[in-house]
Amino acid sequence: MIPVTKPFLPPVEEYQSYIKDIWERQWLTNNGPIVNDLELKLKQYLGVNHLLYLSNGTIALQIAIKALGLEGEIITTPFSYVATTSSIVWEGCMPVFVDIDPETLNLDPTKIEAAITERTSAILATHVYGNPCDIDAIQAIADKYGLKVIYDAAHCFGTKYKGRSIFDYGDISTTSFHATKLFHTIEGGAVFTNNPDLLKKMAYMRNFGHSGPEAFAEIGINGKNSEFHAAMGLVNLNHITAILDRRKELSANYDQYMRHVNGFRPRIQEGTMYNFAYYPFVFESAELMQECYKRLAANNIFCRRYFYPSLAELPYVTKTSPLPVCEDIVQRVLCFPLYHSLKPEDVHLIARLVLRYQNY
Ligand SMILES: *Cc1c(COP(=O)(O)O)cnc(C)c1O
Repeated sequence: MIPVTKPFLPPVEEYQSYIKDIWERQWLTNNGPIVNDLELKLKQYLGVNHLLYLSNGTIALQIAIKALGLEGEIITTPFSYVATTSSIVWEGCMPVFVDIDPETLNLDPTKIEAAITERTSAILATHVYGNPCDIDAIQAIADKYGLKVIYDAAHCFGTKYKGRSIFDYGDISTTSFHATKLFHTIEGGAVFTNNPDLLKKMAYMRNFGHSGPEAFAEIGINGKNSEFHAAMGLVNLNHITAILDRRKELSANYDQYMRHVNGFRPRIQEGTMYNFAYYPFVFESAELMQECYKRLAANNIFCRRYFYPSLAELPYVTKTSPLPVCEDIVQRVLCFPLYHSLKPEDVHLIARLVLRYQNY
């Protein structure tokens, strides 16, 4: 069986060496030494000034929205994982969906201004598949209208834009270290900001608002993560170069064949050092996508419809404008299997099957 993804697992001894230490210290969670060490090593690796390690990427989004004090409407993409939208609604704001760019599949900046009202407080955009949004255009609009910008960078570990970590952009960037992501800590996530006040606020927020054992500076939630999760992060970080290299190599293997399949690959934003987090392909037609999906599944090869359906179809949101590009893409896109232990032979087999199926 070839699933769409498998979590990276390091040699078990590497993880066990940390577990022994945890047993000796008997410090399991609440900002322990391994969590601190992971935060430090991540900052060094990514070249960012600040980050807060959190329990997952969804709480990261919720803390970001809360810390910025957002209200009213938030302009967002209908083409992302459900957590991007659900976090907006969970925080009492209204998602206003703007259509995506037909080539990059990210929020289309040329359509944002028409969606801005006096109730708009922010733009929350996802760098889909690890491919940066048109950051410069989005920031220009945000500056013009005094809006905050949050990037859901859950797919982006290792991606750089204009020489800097992608996490360095926006008022706040969030990410996920869930087991299915390129770099993971089993469950986990982070927020990134260069604003020291925001950073402090979010640090309180992740720990119930505690500013001392008996003092509370902010409304908070439990967004902390544990020593066990952080240990997985430290071990996996030692393998990150191999993980990124393998993804790139396997993607190139797919490309050799998929070039000949009717459809296209999302265009990577100019100025990007891409992380090859996923292997999405947009088929020429919904029928061809369905046919390939079904026939591969019959061969025990499982793709995923990332992302389907459009988030504007969720039962708890309202679609306020037509989203023709997104609605077309969600009917035609598939993500192909891509993970560290996948073999080039597997990729060749999968891609050759697709080539055959397109002439069904
Ligand atoms: C995975 C993901 C999330 C949620 O992260 P969790 O760590 O699973 O909570 C949010 N947004 C996007 C785009 C994701 O892919």
